[in-house]
Formats: sequence, C-alpha cells, structure tokens
Amino acid sequence: MRFDGIHHITAITGDAPRNVDFYTRVLGLRLTAKSVNQDDPSVYHLFYGDEVGSPGADLTFFEYPGALPGRAGAGMVHRIVWRVGSAEALAFWADRLEAEAVDVERGGGSLRFADFEGLEHELVVDESGDPPLVAVHPEIPAELALHGFEGVRAYSYRPQSTAAVLERLMNAEPQDGDRWELRGDARRGWIALDTIPDEPARQSAGTIHHIAWNTTEAEHGRWLEVLQEAGIPNSGLVDRHYFRSIYFREPGGILFELATAEPGFTVDGPVEELGTRIILPPWLEQQRPAIESRLTPLPDPRADWAPVTR
Ligand code: ZN
Repeated sequence: MRFDGIHHITAITGDAPRNVDFYTRVLGLRLTAKSVNQDDPSVYHLFYGDEVGSPGADLTFFEYPGALPGRAGAGMVHRIVWRVGSAEALAFWADRLEAEAVDVERGGGSLRFADFEGLEHELVVDESGDPPLVAVHPEIPAELALHGFEGVRAYSYRPQSTAAVLERLMNAEPQDGDRWELRGDARRGWIALDTIPDEPARQSAGTIHHIAWNTTEAEHGRWLEVLQEAGIPNSGLVDRHYFRSIYFREPGGILFELATAEPGFTVDGPVEELGTRIILPPWLEQQRPAIESRLTPLPDPRADWAPVTR
C-alpha cells in the first residue's frame, strides 16, 4: 500500500474575500467548493484546485475572520511546492506576481513567494510525469498554469521519528537526505524536513493546519489498521462528505490526514457548478439559513467571465 502523493493541504486565512482574490484571480486556481468547517460551522472552509477539484491540487482554507498572521514553526508544514510546465512558466509567474506587487525570489530552477498573510509557496518545473492538474483562467494559458502539488517543506520536532513513520508505516522513499516521496500508481508527492526555526510556531492566518495524503476507498480501512497496530493515536474513520479521512499527529508534531480520492467534489452536483454556492454536508443542511447569515459574503470569482472554451 502506497499513497498517491498529496490529497490536499489545509491552511488558515483571516480574510476570506482577499484569499479568494489571491488564489483564484492571481494564481488562477478554481474555487471548487465553499463549505463550512465541519467542526465549527460558523466559519468557511474554502477549497481551491484544478478544473474538476482533483486530489493533488486541492488547497483549502479555514477562515477565521480577522485572525492575525501566524508563524510557521516546529510541528508544521511551512511551504507548498507547486509544479509548472516549463522555465517559461516560471518567468511568466515571476512577471505576473511582481505586477501584483508580490515579492518573488528566483533561483535554482524555482520561484518563491508568499501570499498576503505570509503563506509560503514555491514553483518548480514539473518532471514528475504525473498528469497536470490545471484550472481554466482567462489570463493564464493552460501551458503556463499551475499543475498541482509537487511537495511540501515542513518543520519536525523529531525528524528521525517523522522519517521512521514515513518510511516504515507509509512506505515513503527517502530522497536526497531530507525528503521522502510518497508514490502510488496514480501520482507522487514529497515532504521535505527543514531545520526548525528558533521562534515558536503560532498557528494562525497564513499557516498550514494539516496535510492530507491521497489514498483510495479500497485501502483506507487498512491504513487505519496500520496505525492501530503501530499504536499511533488517531481519529478513526471520519466522513468529510467529499472524501473519507483518518487524522493523526505524526511524532514530529505535524498533523497528517489520510484521505480517499472518492467520492470527490462532484458528489454535490455537476462540475460546472463547483464553487458557486455554499455546500453543506447533509447533517448541517437544515441549519443553512443560520449558517449562511453568519458567513462573510463572497463573490463568485467567475461571475463576470466571458464564456470560456474548456
Ligand atoms: Zn483535511
């Protein structure tokens, strides 16, 4: 049993309207779902991704209105590494981000920048061979668009213990001394461990809450058995409506989730309607008027688009 790379990454924002603007208009991702935090339905859970909401390109945010920027530190993922198709795409993104007054750092075949709350991103040229996961955007040709996740960089309190879990339980392959690749039949992705910073972590806006690894419905139950046999405390099976999950904190402090590719975002309706209305899981549907009245109004990022050819 192996993981098909990254399923999704979940972070925190204090400003949902600006978050939607940055990730859809600037970065060109599709808003694939507007939902609420199932553990706290007074706040949004926003999902961005490729055109059909595939695992592997799914970046999600819990909104805590007005939350101040936090600080990535030990026990957290601190940078999201995305794939792009070519060196020309790196140059395109450098120009595009600079035009948006986003500071960029070029070098070593990559482009680094942060969002308006300090969440770090890096773009690298895609050499994975995985199918690219691309969203349609009127200003971003498909060959220059983001291709989905390449990997993440993280800070572990106990790198050796994190490595042991990755290698022995999760069947990750060590690479280059500081990173581990999780590769299944469908996709691949990696996690790299960096030296922890001196300042303590503060989980707030612009920081990453957890990372989910991509598995299948068929193997999900067996991963639960693997965790139980290893004596690792975990959430048990959780129904997240779009997928099923198991959560556990690996021994280096990073919150891991094991999520199924199925059923996916189209469980609620056709692909064309993704992200256009607030989706609630069935057990919150009867509270819809109260829930919607508390949420920050958000525009449909595609409302004023001319029809595009897909
Ligand atoms: Zn998650």
